[in-house]
Amino acid sequence: MTIALIAHDAKKTDMAEWAEYNKGTLSRHTLYATGTTAQVVHRATGLDIIALKSGPLGGDQQIGAMIAEGKVDVLIFFWDPMDTHPHDPDVKALLRLSVLYDIPTACNKRTADFVISSPEWSA
Ligand code: PGA
Repeated sequence: MTIALIAHDAKKTDMAEWAEYNKGTLSRHTLYATGTTAQVVHRATGLDIIALKSGPLGGDQQIGAMIAEGKVDVLIFFWDPMDTHPHDPDVKALLRLSVLYDIPTACNKRTADFVISSPEWSA
């Protein structure tokens, strides 16, 4: 499967911890991430990750386009509920597309744990 990873700055530690804990499962899939998230996850896990542009520079929109083209199976998106961002419209657009295309989307660690431990992973 193809998994897209994004974490806002305040959530990058969460993402690094989650990815490190789930490294074994993640290693069996194709991983995309926005620029800085890709670096953080690679540093934490050593996994190969295809880096897109940083979120504020269009990375969220790139993942949205991939979803629209049927190229993303799972979205792990740890967005920051305590701050606004210059690219808030992109964040909203991405979440809209993930719902529209029925993409399993986890916005916090607990949900990501449920998603990654789902029997659907081995289906
Ligand atoms: P980043 O982008 O991974 O490049 O930090 C994430 C975001 O802010 O949307």
